Amino acid sequence: MPSPLTPIDVERKIKDLFRGFFEQGFKKKTDVPLYLKSLPNWKLGGYGGNTPCVEVSAAKTQIIVDGGSGIRNLGIEMMNGPCAEGKGEVHIFFTHFHWDHLIGLPFFTPLFVPGNQIHVYAVQPELESVFQTVFRKPYFPLQLKDLGATIHYHRLEPRKPFKMKDIQVTPYQLDHPDPCWGYKFEYGGKTYSHCVDTECTRISRAQLGEDLPLYQNVDLLVFDAQYTLLETLEKVHWGHAAASLGLDIAMREGIKQVIFMHHDPSSNDKKISTAEAQARKYYDTQISMAKKAQQRKKTETSEVRELKWSFGYDGLEIEI
Ligand SMILES: [Zn+2]
Ligand SMILES: [Zn+2]
Repeated sequence: MPSPLTPIDVERKIKDLFRGFFEQGFKKKTDVPLYLKSLPNWKLGGYGGNTPCVEVSAAKTQIIVDGGSGIRNLGIEMMNGPCAEGKGEVHIFFTHFHWDHLIGLPFFTPLFVPGNQIHVYAVQPELESVFQTVFRKPYFPLQLKDLGATIHYHRLEPRKPFKMKDIQVTPYQLDHPDPCWGYKFEYGGKTYSHCVDTECTRISRAQLGEDLPLYQNVDLLVFDAQYTLLETLEKVHWGHAAASLGLDIAMREGIKQVIFMHHDPSSNDKKISTAEAQARKYYDTQISMAKKAQQRKKTETSEVRELKWSFGYDGLEIEI
């Protein structure tokens, strides 16, 4: 579910900010920038509340992953380009068809402009019937044939690289209650792996088997962190992971950077920030243990693989 802040949440945030300003001994108007700079992200903008939609861009190519509520804003932005004149070429890759990954599609403006070519991709055979279901009365006033844009359906083969102009895309299976596929995007020697939604029940290299390449030679990994580690024990088979699982894999495989997303809609900013702090503690402990092991052995075998990571928020942009 999209989970926007309510007016009461915003009011509470503002009150906390004012209280913090005076409690920290600030007095003057000119102290405001310094005070705001000292605050963690969750106390200011927070993590956002849209459901999953990620844009992947290279020099000549734009790819969208999933049609969560975040695609609405992206669509508005794209209407500043060729999509407004019906000359747009849009490529949307779907991981799976749970509502949170489709819910923004009926509000994706480029779909309603005649002339736009919308290419949609998935491994699952149900892609076309999913579109027929979403754009159907009484759920939506327009039927698929009345949308304006032309939709082209593409079926991807599991684990087979697909050339999307200058980006190579390979689907690998994730661990989710219904079939769900992560994507590895490669362009100009850089790699981005999209791993949402996954419970990551397979962790070891042997367990991951033919899906292991999704986590290897990766510059940026986006990983599922809906729950804390404790919650994953309570919510077995719910299809989502905790940050520590992603960190374990990232440290083992030498992934350079990880962003965690798909935060629980029932969590508030404070709770998500607590999960982030727990993950930070876990990571710091793992790294210090690895460093001690390396010092004891004085060899290169116990490699310490430090990485950059954080919890993502709506609108976050990363260049690799
Ligand atoms: Zn799902
Ligand atoms: Zn989801």
